[in-house]
Amino acid sequence: MANDYYATLGVRRDASADEVKKAYRRLARELHPDVNPDPETQEKFKEITQAYEVLSDPKKREMYDLGADPFATTGAGAGAGGFGGAGFPFSDIMDAFFGTAASRGPRSRARRGRNATMRVELDLSETAFGTTRELSIDTAVACTSCEGSGCAPGTHPDTCETCHGRGEVQQVQRSFLGQVMTARPCPACGGFGSVIRNPCAECSGDGRVRTRRTVKVKIPAGVENGIHIQLAGEGEVGPGGGPPGDLFLEIVEKPHEIYEREGDDLHCTVEIPMTAAALGTSVTIETLDAAEGVDIKPGTQSGQVITLYGRGVRHLNESGRGDLMIHVNVETPGKLDEEQEDLLRRLAKLRGEERPPGKFAPGQRSVFSRLRDVFNQHPG
Ligand SMILES: [Zn+2]
Ligand SMILES: [Zn+2]
Repeated sequence: MANDYYATLGVRRDASADEVKKAYRRLARELHPDVNPDPETQEKFKEITQAYEVLSDPKKREMYDLGADPFATTGAGAGAGGFGGAGFPFSDIMDAFFGTAASRGPRSRARRGRNATMRVELDLSETAFGTTRELSIDTAVACTSCEGSGCAPGTHPDTCETCHGRGEVQQVQRSFLGQVMTARPCPACGGFGSVIRNPCAECSGDGRVRTRRTVKVKIPAGVENGIHIQLAGEGEVGPGGGPPGDLFLEIVEKPHEIYEREGDDLHCTVEIPMTAAALGTSVTIETLDAAEGVDIKPGTQSGQVITLYGRGVRHLNESGRGDLMIHVNVETPGKLDEEQEDLLRRLAKLRGEERPPGKFAPGQRSVFSRLRDVFNQHPG
């Protein structure tokens, strides 16, 4: 059997109806397309829904347990097992047996429009504080000439003569269960039950036209690289006057000249000469808010971090902000002229540091620097 519906839902083969329902609900909440729009998750959502459709229906479940998979396709290589070669989807038999075919009726021309995704590039100050953007999107909107119906103005769809408006035709087929009535979508009208003889000239009967539309969107403070913002109903309108899909904005944060973002905290490095680190100094830093003076205390060590609290990125959907961390780097003077060297030697002598023994301690290499070493190793 191609699909193991029990495994898909993660339940035992003897699971009760209630357990099946609970398992499906839990998975559906995780995998729902509104929560997780990526195609892989949508595919999974389809799979669990299919599994639930079979296992939640006592009759379908019984047939499935006997070895019949209502969703297995019968094409070449498909997993219909012993029923391969029946020449029609097994679901048709299920429909014929359980009466779902009778209630199907003609399908509506209106279908939901597709979702659209758009990348939005933002500066750090825009993601930190939020912004409003006018976006120009290529999309489909309802045709004004036919108001989405697809019919030339003043005309209506005609009832299909082949299926008399039912949208489907019945046929008798032979199967392993004997002769069964199956219903298939009417080939003459495509299952709509009606035919548009005079399509709207503006949209060629689709009910919508392509255009460029401007959308004004508010991007909240605190968004970061890779986040998707869902704008309900801002996607393409559907064919036949169907409702619109959603628009997803993918946030791309442009790298900042100075600041590196880590969550809502910002990091930067400041280099100061050895003398300034020893004597103390003050530097001016352009935070996201303003230019600010930062005191560097006498005796500051290389690697020391000065934290400006609340100068980072605003938390998304919460009050407060991250911090700004300034990592101090002390520069040791390289080229010394005679006078400077003389001065330093005198200082060293005064401090009794002419031949310092050095202080040794266990290594404190971070995970990152060890990883970096692994990547930098030469092969062989
Ligand atoms: Zn039209
Ligand atoms: Zn028809």
